[in-house]
Amino acid sequence: MFALDVQQLAKVYKGGFQALKGVDLQVDEGDFFALLGPNGAGKSTFIGIVSSLVRKTSGRVQVFGQDLDEDPEGVKSSIGLVPQEFNFNLFLPVLEVVLNQAGYYGIPRREAKVRAERSLRQLDLWDRRGTEMRKLSGGLKRRLMIARALVHEPRLLILDEPTAGVDIEIRRSMWSFLRELNAKGTTIILTTHYLEEAESLCRNIAIISEGAIAERTSVAKLLGQLRTETFVLNLKGSV
Ligand code: ADP
Ligand code: MG
Repeated sequence: MFALDVQQLAKVYKGGFQALKGVDLQVDEGDFFALLGPNGAGKSTFIGIVSSLVRKTSGRVQVFGQDLDEDPEGVKSSIGLVPQEFNFNLFLPVLEVVLNQAGYYGIPRREAKVRAERSLRQLDLWDRRGTEMRKLSGGLKRRLMIARALVHEPRLLILDEPTAGVDIEIRRSMWSFLRELNAKGTTIILTTHYLEEAESLCRNIAIISEGAIAERTSVAKLLGQLRTETFVLNLKGSV
């Protein structure tokens, strides 16, 4: 089964700008997948539609066989999202951030508390549960956003540029956490504009450019191809 099956997905924003131009993309269950592309390519728009934050213009989205139009709640509850930007109340304490997210998924308060604790412990944040989010370092904020995204134990975790602007040590520790999570069975999709990140973490990759998929391949193949191209370029350059 596909974790994600997207067909002919299009998005035209108000004002007429077409951010997605008929995207077809399948991601296998269990995969660790990268959506790589430059700024403005449409990565966040794609992620936003899949995770029910942005309305699609046309096309079909299925998540573990559930259709976004027919079963929006099923799709929503299968996905955990770490958004690119955290534009919500930074005065909230860590625990409340996670509890609110549990509420978003309709989890009753009593169960939400159990889940929030589990999720915060998993990310080593339980001791900071009373700290306001704005007082956390950049790295801890990212960890909190992962804890928040995992509170309902989604089968698919989507991270939108998770390590943009994060220093290398935090990046490494986040990578190892994600690897472990994937090894335990969670399908992961991340967007990035670092090829290095895709290389170090992901098995398969799609390259998106100007709202369309330019290439869909394995990371190993892509790297082989790039090396050959660089080699040929160098060869030409030296003649
Ligand atoms: P990426 O995440 O790859 O950087 P985005 O999906 O954020 O790309 O944006 C793709 C394109 O859509 C960009 O040209 C951006 O300016 C445009 N865009 C994004 N959000 C909106 C919006 N709410 N209204 C109009 N245009 C938008
Ligand atoms: Mg983006």
